[in-house]
Amino acid sequence: MTAASGVDAASTIAVVGTGVAGTTAALTLRNAGFTGRVVLIGDEPDEPYRRPPLSKDVLRGTMSPGRTRLRAPDTWSQHSIELRTDTRVSGVDAEARRIIFADGTGLDFDRILLATGGLPKVLPQARGVGGVYTLRTLADVSALHGVLAAGSRLLVIGAGLIGSEVAATARDMDCAVTVLEAQPAPLSRVLPREITRVYEELHRASGVDLHTGVDVRELIHEGDQLAATDAGGRVHSADAAVVAVGLDPRTELAEHAGIATGDGIIVDEHFATSAPGVYAAGDVANHPNHVLGGRQRVEHWLNAQEQGAAAARAMLGDRTPYSCVPWSWSDQHGVTMHVCGWPEAAEDLTVRGEPGARDFTAIARRHGRVVGAVGMNRPAELRALRKVVSAAPHAEQAVLADPATELASLASLEVAGTSS
Ligand SMILES: Cc1cc2nc3c(=O)[nH]c(=O)nc-3n(C[C@H](O)[C@H](O)[C@H](O)COP(=O)(O)OP(=O)(O)OC[C@H]3O[C@@H](n4cnc5c(N)ncnc54)[C@H](O)[C@@H]3O)c2cc1C
Repeated sequence: MTAASGVDAASTIAVVGTGVAGTTAALTLRNAGFTGRVVLIGDEPDEPYRRPPLSKDVLRGTMSPGRTRLRAPDTWSQHSIELRTDTRVSGVDAEARRIIFADGTGLDFDRILLATGGLPKVLPQARGVGGVYTLRTLADVSALHGVLAAGSRLLVIGAGLIGSEVAATARDMDCAVTVLEAQPAPLSRVLPREITRVYEELHRASGVDLHTGVDVRELIHEGDQLAATDAGGRVHSADAAVVAVGLDPRTELAEHAGIATGDGIIVDEHFATSAPGVYAAGDVANHPNHVLGGRQRVEHWLNAQEQGAAAARAMLGDRTPYSCVPWSWSDQHGVTMHVCGWPEAAEDLTVRGEPGARDFTAIARRHGRVVGAVGMNRPAELRALRKVVSAAPHAEQAVLADPATELASLASLEVAGTSS
């Protein structure tokens, strides 16, 4: 904490959102030596928990919901963090530095972090239709447990990361699974075409009835049957549907406070919003991309965690600009994929190993610079590449493809790349 930070032992820092971004921020404030008041507020009834297992072990029934808890229950009191669950913030007055709660009470703050995450996008055709589910919270997974069992028929609309994982888990549960995806392939938003093919094969080999390029026009629930009709007039029937077509960042508090938004809450490299004293981090934050330029909003666990920590330090006066590279993983049909950087931005792809054998690393270049990678069964190479992507060096494809190349050493190519 520096004198210039403007916060001291008499200050209050409020954190809205008890997801990984908010909780990490609250704990980082304490670990960084902040001795003032920390109030951590979330509208979910549960203690802070991890979302990634929801579409995997928790849905499958191999992990109890209680085991998703992020921290031991006494963590918050031990760190003198006032945890308020089941508490909705209905407004933030950025000028008066005051939170208004849904019950009409208020809280004055000196700094506030908005770590409000997002909600599953609503498919207009599915609005109000029975038998249609989304998956974001523990309550959602509990509702799905009520309808999924061996032999039940599940329709998954959207084959992004969450839809694909739900489809894979439901197959593990011996459900009959049909996936309808609007794009030409699953995971199109996050992976280059060459790699999405691996997933098409993986889904089909695991018994998923995968349909791509499908425009769902109508969803009807009659009796206990659900029917989705696509633009070609084909009807796909099921007992239930999971709609997983993306995330809407929860920007409403920022918008009502007059803070700049646009696909998320706009922040600078210190997570500061357009309003003094107000910060944002995690899935909701739209921040500068130090490798590709422009801005981005990332919806991955490790980013939300790293951003929460970085935002907390920034609130205490740390001026180190945030420059982390996205990192995520996905478990589907017994195969774990790791992704770093921005492989979807690839102009060319260098593949080490054998995609068909699900043992490979694919390295994405843009303008000759390494900007991302995706791999199966090669976590060490992916970890090395995360550091490489941060430096985004120029590298020849022949060098990247050579099994003798130590990938970690490529990060130092930046010097050669920038000076040439
Ligand atoms: C099913 C599922 C599986 C996933 N799997 C993976 C994976 O394998 N790998 C990976 O990298 N990522 C995965 N993710 C993504 C990852 O979990 C998210 O990126 C991360 O949890 C985002 O954390 P966050 O703190 O930014 O937001 P959130 O976890 O969404 O937390 C925001 C919190 O703020 C609360 N809130 C919002 N508005 C208010 C308000 N006005 N008042 C009070 N509280 C409010 C919300 O209710 C919520 O509890 C998965 C996500 C889901 C849903």
